[in-house]
Amino acid sequence: MTRDETVKGFDFHCHIDLHPDPAALIARCDQERIAVLAVTTTARAWPQNRLWMQDSRYVHAAVGLHPELVAEGYAEIDMLEKYIGESRLVGEVGLDGSPQHRSSYERQKDVFARALAASQRYGGRVVSVHSRRAARDTVSLIKGHTAPEDVICILHWFSGSVAEAVRAGDTGCYFSINPAMLTADRGRTLIESLPRDRILTETDSPLMKAGHNCSIPLETARMVAELAVLLSEKPTSMWEIVRSNSLRVFRFAGISFEECT
Ligand SMILES: [Zn+2]
Repeated sequence: MTRDETVKGFDFHCHIDLHPDPAALIARCDQERIAVLAVTTTARAWPQNRLWMQDSRYVHAAVGLHPELVAEGYAEIDMLEKYIGESRLVGEVGLDGSPQHRSSYERQKDVFARALAASQRYGGRVVSVHSRRAARDTVSLIKGHTAPEDVICILHWFSGSVAEAVRAGDTGCYFSINPAMLTADRGRTLIESLPRDRILTETDSPLMKAGHNCSIPLETARMVAELAVLLSEKPTSMWEIVRSNSLRVFRFAGISFEECT
């Protein structure tokens, strides 16, 4: 057994700082050995998140500027670029083409393009990407501003078409799957179309409204079990797929769990 096997689960999109007690949740993830990419929604939130997570072995903070917040947070764009220089994990960034966010769409594109370009400039960045109702533009910007050998983009809760998922996969993107995708027919069809070596798990906790509680360890374990059934894999092989994809992505950002025993 390699030491990497001590990680018990992976959550590639979790809003730790929106939970009522972030410090307690970080301690729980460390105790349960759940590796977490903790996204933030404003660049301003980065210093506090970094502080909370600096001593954690398993929970790692990302710097982001959520597309839904660009209307009021556009001025943070310079701060975001600066902090990307300090953080190898980036997110949540991306585009939201929903009617209620349509008015900020051009500014969203500006923020996302600059975040991608900064990630590319520094290299070795892993970016968690929001793409609701904007899959085509999201993938085009990723393609235009990054190279997969320098930046890994993870499409979080991807809800585009199968054809758009194929295009994203060809661009080098990974996909983080959450429980809501596993319960919807459209999500399940999409998951079946994904290349196995790009599949990751996430909870989007605490924002996902699927009636689940917020137990991240429970959710990550359950997702692997449900993915195994959906993809006709043995539970142990499914875990091996998720685990090796996850370790590869964290390693890309310079994060290794090998010292954790
Ligand atoms: Zn999110």
